[in-house]
Amino acid sequence: MRTLISGGTIVTAEGSYPADVLVDGERIVQIGQGLAATVSADETIDASGRYVIPGGIDVHTHMELPFGGTFAKDTFETGTRAAAFGGTTTVVDFAVQSKGKSLREGLDAWHAKAEGNAVIDYGFHMIMSDVTDASLAEMDQLVAEGIPDFKLFTAYPGVFYSDDGAIFRAMQRTAKNGGLIMMHAENGLAIDVIAADTVAAGTDPIGHGLARYSGLEGEATSRVIRLAEAAKVPVYIVHLSAREALDAVRMARDEGLPTFAETCPQYLFLSLDDLGHGFEGAKFVCSPPLRTEDHQPELWKGLVKDDLQVVSTDHCPFDFHGQKDLGKDDFRKIPNGLPGVEDRMDLLHDGGVVAGRISKERWVEITSTAPARLFGMYPRKGTISVGTDADIVVYDPNRKRTISAKTHHMAVDYSCYEGRSVQGAADVVMSRGSVVVRSGEFIGRRGAGQFLKRATADYARMA
Ligand SMILES: [Zn+2]
Repeated sequence: MRTLISGGTIVTAEGSYPADVLVDGERIVQIGQGLAATVSADETIDASGRYVIPGGIDVHTHMELPFGGTFAKDTFETGTRAAAFGGTTTVVDFAVQSKGKSLREGLDAWHAKAEGNAVIDYGFHMIMSDVTDASLAEMDQLVAEGIPDFKLFTAYPGVFYSDDGAIFRAMQRTAKNGGLIMMHAENGLAIDVIAADTVAAGTDPIGHGLARYSGLEGEATSRVIRLAEAAKVPVYIVHLSAREALDAVRMARDEGLPTFAETCPQYLFLSLDDLGHGFEGAKFVCSPPLRTEDHQPELWKGLVKDDLQVVSTDHCPFDFHGQKDLGKDDFRKIPNGLPGVEDRMDLLHDGGVVAGRISKERWVEITSTAPARLFGMYPRKGTISVGTDADIVVYDPNRKRTISAKTHHMAVDYSCYEGRSVQGAADVVMSRGSVVVRSGEFIGRRGAGQFLKRATADYARMA
């Protein structure tokens, strides 16, 4: 099967230019102008007036994550399908090691969830919630199996939390096996004390935002960066939300440390105010919490200056009715997480490129190329060039649409962006040479997504 994508403007992190793209089987085999006159193809996709971009890569999703006695609603089938609708063709999800269990058991469980269900390619990071001699030894094996990143938490005492010694041991091991440490950095011990005081004064969701001080994200971020420095290991801060945390990352990067960080659309477009309005605010409960609006311009600055390299979603959807209401009488019991995997590309295009904050090339970089580089998928994923996987999106930068739970494809009963109009939408989405979404219709296949065995990256050279 040969497909010609003709007449579009190729946009990569490096630049933009008009050219046709020829796909043969699963790969891009030729790029050039006027290919229609010289090559034969089984199908031609007209991309005139539109961008031809590498498919989005979302390196932070939680399909079917168990949390607070329930599970995130999207399965690998529904979640990856929603991702595809939004122009994302690769997700990296978090397999979870439960306390007292091995990494292997957690990894096997995640393979079982994804295999035969995902409609686009996927990889895994490993969440470590129990650092022991045995789990430390398992880390090396996981790196060899294409799972080279390990996420640890300074938050959620009693669940995912690791103390500094445990984190440091995992860091030392990773320094030897060449992998990457990912950190959820909030001071969970202090936050639990503050949250207990806060709930005594009021049980509404706003308490969730008020209790999780931004300064305590800054403190934990600074601490884990210094632990990583001592262990001589690269560190990646997940879902950075606060100016104080960005300051810590910026300082480390200015020192030349291999410190990396992502933020998420919710921290760029939503704020603490959304946590108000009584229990409606439960729709916006995630950790770290939404911050006051004054953090947003700082995060944009971080993206412009490359102190933040990636925007991922932390997609972790819970229904408002039947799941979020577990915390009706105590905001601490509201499952933490928001839906987002479907809307990331469009929100960033609209609020970033159309709004004049970033170039379209930078938009591609933070949503696809940089995640591919940092997470060992480049150049197979994350760019448009000969020999790479044909994960391609024909993107209309002018089409406007309104985000709504009525029309989205995520398996969740609300949208954080209900009624918001965005400019820019994916018209055709191709995963390894097969069209999976066209004109708002899913034509892919459940189970077509493959597990991505990822390599370690040369983090030091990317610092
Ligand atoms: Zn997460």
